[in-house]
Amino acid sequence: SELLKMEHLVKYYGNKTSLTKALNDISLTVEQGEFTAIMGASGSGKTTLLNCISTIDRPTGGKVWIDGVCTSELKKGELADFRRNRLGFIFQEFNLLDTLTAFDNIALALQIQKCPHDKIKEKIEAVAQKLGIREVLEKYPYQLSGGQKQRVAAARAIITHPSLILADEPTGALDSKSSKDLLESLKLLNETEHTAILMVTHDAYTASYARRVIFIKDGKVFHELLKGTEERRS
Ligand code: ADP
Ligand code: ADP
Repeated sequence: SELLKMEHLVKYYGNKTSLTKALNDISLTVEQGEFTAIMGASGSGKTTLLNCISTIDRPTGGKVWIDGVCTSELKKGELADFRRNRLGFIFQEFNLLDTLTAFDNIALALQIQKCPHDKIKEKIEAVAQKLGIREVLEKYPYQLSGGQKQRVAAARAIITHPSLILADEPTGALDSKSSKDLLESLKLLNETEHTAILMVTHDAYTASYARRVIFIKDGKVFHELLKGTEERRS
């Protein structure tokens, strides 16, 4: 079934004399559990699109629904809860808290949800096992490689079982070996946890891990690829 729907999404920056149409009428739907990449050159509108979906930015026009919730109708006070409960985030620059261990970075969202300590430990060990980061859980971000940091960020994103993980250039700061490890990790999470992933990238290798690739140019969808011949999950 449908997880994400965008209708006639428009985002303008600037004013009458200097107007940038960052998003110029985008309509898309993404199914539950889908692994999707948004590809496009620098300046094509990828980050703007992701920010409008993630409620970090507000579109100038059009609507976004996630899990049937129209995000533009959420009140300011509801937005933080909505993001925390439904969405997971992975950023190019990791965005881990430097003063917390990997374990505590991953645990944070669960602590906010008042999850009992035993349960937190159990959940984190299970996901760390999957992502190959068990041995770094007691380390601080500065003690980790870029690849390890991004797998910790992936663990943090998945730990609350969001419906959708949004990733902005997740391999942008990684070498090719670490990129491959991260993408294998994301693929595993997508397949075993059935979490939908929407990832923005300008890198073809990164996009190759997605089953569906949507190409944008000048704020418009201009091409789409759907890999594999198997039935789409519904
Ligand atoms: P991408 O992520 O594909 O590189 P962006 O979404 O960052 O593209 O940008 C799309 C277009 O919108 C670009 O022309 C960019 O310069 C412009 N843009 C993005 N953010 C802003 C902003 N805050 N103010 C003005 N223009 C912006
Ligand atoms: P990326 O290609 O990864 O999106 P950019 O350097 O294009 O990175 O943009 C980073 C951020 O800077 C954007 O998400 C946007 O908020 C802001 N930005 C981009 N272009 C402009 C612009 N022309 N004016 C103001 N802010 C901008």
